Amino acid sequence: AVMAGGSIATISEVIGEVQRGVGASERLLQLLASRSDISAGSQVLPVTNQPPTIDFADILFHYPDSAPLFTNLNLHVAAGETVALVGPSGAGKSTLFHLLLRFYQPQQGQITLNGEPIDRFTLNSLRQQIAIVTQEPVVFATTVMENIRYGNSHASDDDICQAAKAAFAHEFIDQLPQRYHTELGERGVRLSGGQRQRIAIARAILADRPVLLLDEATSALDANSERRVQQALNRLMHGRTTIVIAHRLATVQHADRIVVMDKGKITSTGTHDELIENDMLYREYAELQLLS
Ligand code: ATP
Repeated sequence: AVMAGGSIATISEVIGEVQRGVGASERLLQLLASRSDISAGSQVLPVTNQPPTIDFADILFHYPDSAPLFTNLNLHVAAGETVALVGPSGAGKSTLFHLLLRFYQPQQGQITLNGEPIDRFTLNSLRQQIAIVTQEPVVFATTVMENIRYGNSHASDDDICQAAKAAFAHEFIDQLPQRYHTELGERGVRLSGGQRQRIAIARAILADRPVLLLDEATSALDANSERRVQQALNRLMHGRTTIVIAHRLATVQHADRIVVMDKGKITSTGTHDELIENDMLYREYAELQLLS
C-alpha cells in the first residue's frame, strides 16, 4: 500500500488511477517513486503498435521488509504471444505485473522490452505501452461515453462507439435508458460484473497499447455474459503481447503458453495439453476448473 493524498491506496487502486489518465498516474508514480527507490530513466519509449518481446532475466526480488519471493526468475514472452500465469495464491503472479509496471524494482536482474531494460525509460512512456484490465474494473460516476473515454482522452464519440462494438458492449449499452449518455455509478445505472468488464475491455481497445496485462476475474458470470467477455478479450489480445493471470479454463486453452508458478518459482511451462499430460499441480487446477 502507498500513501496517496493522505490516504492509503492499494496497488489495484493505483492501477485504476493509472487507467484514468496521465495526470493522476504521474502524481501517484512520484509518490511511489519516492517510497520505493524507483529510479526512472530519461529515455522516452516511442508509442508504437508493434507488440514487443518481454523478458524477465535472473530476477531476484523481495518486497520491503519481506523474505525473498523470486530468487532467480526467468520468463521470456515473445512478441504478440499470450502467456497465461497459473498458480496458487502467493505464487507471485501479480508481482510480475508490479515489476513490469515498475511499482517495485528487482534487487537484481533485469526486465527488458525488445531487449531494452525498462529502467532506461521514463515511467510515463513505459506505462503508455501497457493496458491493464483488472478483476474489479473501476466504473466512474459519469456517462458510459466518458467511462470508455478514460482509455484515450482524445477519442471521438465515434471511436468510443467502435471500441464498444469491438468489446461486445454496444449491445447492452444500446438497451440503457440514455444509451451512451446514461449515467453510471452509485446514483446512476448499476452494471453487472460482465458489463463492467466489457466497459474495461472497451477502454483497453480504445487505449490500443502494444502490451496487455490482464488479471482475470474469479467471480463467475452467467454463461451468456461469460461468452461475450471471452470474445471481447480474444479481440483485445490479438496483435498484443499479453500476460494474463488466468482463472478460467477457456483462457488457458486459448493461451499460446501457460506458465505454472508456485512460491515464487516457475514450476513448468507448456500448452494446456502438454501440462495436463506432464504436470500434476496443473492437472489438479484444471480439474478444479482453475477457479482458485
Ligand atoms: P494472488 O492470486 O493471491 O493474487 P499471486 O500469485 O498474485 O497471488 P502475489 O500477489 O504476487 O501472488 O504475492 C506474492 C507474495 O508477495 C505473497 O506472499 C504476498 O503476500 C507478497 N506480497 C504481495 N504484495 C506485497 C506487498 N505490496 N508488500 C509485501 N508483500 C507483498
